[in-house]
Amino acid sequence: MTNELWWRLGCFFSVLALMMLFEWYKPARKSVIGLRQRWSANFGLVLASSVLTRLSIPIGLTALALYNAQQGIGLFNIINLPNWLIIVLSLLLLDIVIYWQHRLFHQIPFLWRFHRVHHADAHVDTSTGLRFHPLEILLSIGVKMIAVSALGVPAMAVLIFEISLNALALFNHANIRLPNVIEKPLRLILMTQILHRIHHSQVVTETNSNYGFSVIWWDKLFGSYKDKAIKSDNELALGLIEYPEAKQNASFIALLLMPFKNKSFKNK
Ligand SMILES: [Zn+2]
Repeated sequence: MTNELWWRLGCFFSVLALMMLFEWYKPARKSVIGLRQRWSANFGLVLASSVLTRLSIPIGLTALALYNAQQGIGLFNIINLPNWLIIVLSLLLLDIVIYWQHRLFHQIPFLWRFHRVHHADAHVDTSTGLRFHPLEILLSIGVKMIAVSALGVPAMAVLIFEISLNALALFNHANIRLPNVIEKPLRLILMTQILHRIHHSQVVTETNSNYGFSVIWWDKLFGSYKDKAIKSDNELALGLIEYPEAKQNASFIALLLMPFKNKSFKNK
């Protein structure tokens, strides 16, 4: 656990660089907004979220998990199960929590105000996978802290979960189209780029599907899986109808203010 930061940063930058290389080499779709404007806004949000998290939450998730283990807090710290089973169950349960958190961010109007910052991106690429309003990030950390403490998730499982969720979010937002021979078998387990782009479609019933960031199981289990959009992957209109003026809404400041501005929305 002492090398936690290096593991996190190493995996993050490796996957980020790899995905960006792929989408530069063979992009699936052409962006409607200039790269520089989108990236400065999207990466600006990452920076703002990191600063806000540092300032407002004194303890990291893995440190919390270690504390829980010492104090005997949470389900897995009370019951006796083999270590490997606890790690597997922790990963699955945390992923279900994130699935429902994402679904509720779509269904509860107050939460949608924040999550629509992510969906207002008129183009989807690896940087979209990082584009979340800092307050959504903060709320999400709060949800994860409650889940980690209630379940007594071990620190190792927290670390594996965080690294893989992050890597998979970068992966499925990438502006690439995997060849059929890879995509078809992969989508039996994972949320691929084509499936996740359906979640970013302007058609409301399509936005409200494929909530999983990693495996497709929870969407199948809870009835939100969609394997096909009305339009083809190439013609799919991405973003939100409420934000047609893509350029004006792509600046860092506009994104920070977006949740607080009233805008009728059609997500319900
Ligand atoms: Zn979403």
